[in-house]
Amino acid sequence: MLRSVRLLSVLVLGVCAAATLSAQTELKLHYRWNNQFSVANKDTKVIRPVFQYVADKVGVKIKDVANPVATNDTQEFQLAATEQFTGADIYGGASLAEYFYSYGNDGAFVDLMAAMKAGKLPNFKKFTDANPDVLAAIVTPEGKLFHLPYVPDGGVARMYFIRTDWLAKLKLNMPKTTEELEKVLKAFRDKDPNGNGKRDEIPVFNDKLNEIMRTMNLWNARVYGNDNYGVRVVADARGGKMYHAWLDPRFKTAMKEFQRWYREGLIDPEAFTRKENTARKDLLTKLNVGGMTHEWVASTSGYNYDPALKKAWPDFKFEVMAPVAWKGAKAFEEHARIIVKPDGWGISAKSKNVDAALKYIDYFFSEDGRNTTNFGVKGQTWTDLDKNGDPIFTPAALAWMNEAGGMNRALWDKQGAQAPLGYFQNFAYEIQWTLPIGQAGVAIYRDPKQVTYANQTPVFAFAKSEFETVNSITDQLNTYLAEAAVNFITGRVDVEKGWNEYVAKANELGAPKLVAVYQAAYDRFLKGGKK
Ligand code: CA
Repeated sequence: MLRSVRLLSVLVLGVCAAATLSAQTELKLHYRWNNQFSVANKDTKVIRPVFQYVADKVGVKIKDVANPVATNDTQEFQLAATEQFTGADIYGGASLAEYFYSYGNDGAFVDLMAAMKAGKLPNFKKFTDANPDVLAAIVTPEGKLFHLPYVPDGGVARMYFIRTDWLAKLKLNMPKTTEELEKVLKAFRDKDPNGNGKRDEIPVFNDKLNEIMRTMNLWNARVYGNDNYGVRVVADARGGKMYHAWLDPRFKTAMKEFQRWYREGLIDPEAFTRKENTARKDLLTKLNVGGMTHEWVASTSGYNYDPALKKAWPDFKFEVMAPVAWKGAKAFEEHARIIVKPDGWGISAKSKNVDAALKYIDYFFSEDGRNTTNFGVKGQTWTDLDKNGDPIFTPAALAWMNEAGGMNRALWDKQGAQAPLGYFQNFAYEIQWTLPIGQAGVAIYRDPKQVTYANQTPVFAFAKSEFETVNSITDQLNTYLAEAAVNFITGRVDVEKGWNEYVAKANELGAPKLVAVYQAAYDRFLKGGKK
């Protein structure tokens, strides 16, 4: 009786009735990201409108119960585990997928697969029906699911950038092969394209040591399986045999070439010692010596529009180059946005508000939820949709791209948008603040006639024993591989002479076992996640 009266009042009173409902259900969120931010401020006031907007839409109250003071996200999550996840209804954040699998298998989280089958995650179901690879990548070998993930959009990620003003000055064409690229880079090194009379040009550089390792792609070798530098087990084609990229004969061949480039001054001599995230600022803006890199499109193309840089170096032009290959092989771009990130959120099995929590996390996968999580709350950062149905940022919101932390930081800080929670990213949000040179690059890298992407290793839902094997091998093995790579590149160890010993040591550290676990997970993934 009471229930039907309430239902009637919902129908009749609409918004007002929703407010009545919200007074009843309060969802506690334990969501942390970046080791410092949470949904609310330290006075527990919800300060990120996206979270509140969705709460209003599904008719619940939300309370942030995460620790707002700067501590480590993963430690906080483990602390919640020691409390048996009794403190909140919804738990989430970045890089938590493996914890969801591990604790979920022990019964700590609601099985979202069962909930979906019971019709309780309609928006997420619609999304996974259209994107079965996402579901296959996150479902456990037992067919369970413990978190809704952050699903990135768009194939493009990092691209090659090259100084096209230097190409023009030296009367060189855009290189189409690795052999042509080498000639160009040697001209950058020898012919003083920055015109200061000094031989100070640094042909190839990168902000990250791990990323400069990807230069090996130029000689047809794979380096990483996906956008996680720790994942080095790959397959050349979907369904193909997996192997350890760093132990492959092609890696050895590429290493010899990379070593030669390093010796000949084509690679940044400070690549191994430079502070992370400083190379572009130092080598482009300050010194005007950087020739080529492989970096994120929006931020890198932005240097072309930096007023201080343009004032100092008026001719500066850093444009996108399609991937090239060596000895007639097919060129590929290895870095793509991954199918699914290891981020997201799940529901505590101890929650007394499971249905409300399901509604809440499901809403982020609705069309309105997707617009809100990507662009912010309608009326605050956008009002109209473009012809593709994507929100258009207001000029005031677009101006955030000029703030110190850039657009992504501002969207999170001011709105709670673009956070690594369970949602489907919409690349349109990024296109709007990618300046013309970057947009031209996106057009090249989205054109399958111009760019082929390497087969990506999915983020696997490992079974518990597999997870333990991967964890116990990966760190130690990768530390060894990095040390050995630096020894090869700097010439401390000769590639030809040292290779067999290098492979033997990697095998001793468990590389074959690691490949076997990846292969088993990959076989399962190809069968839609089932055993
Ligand atoms: Ca010079």
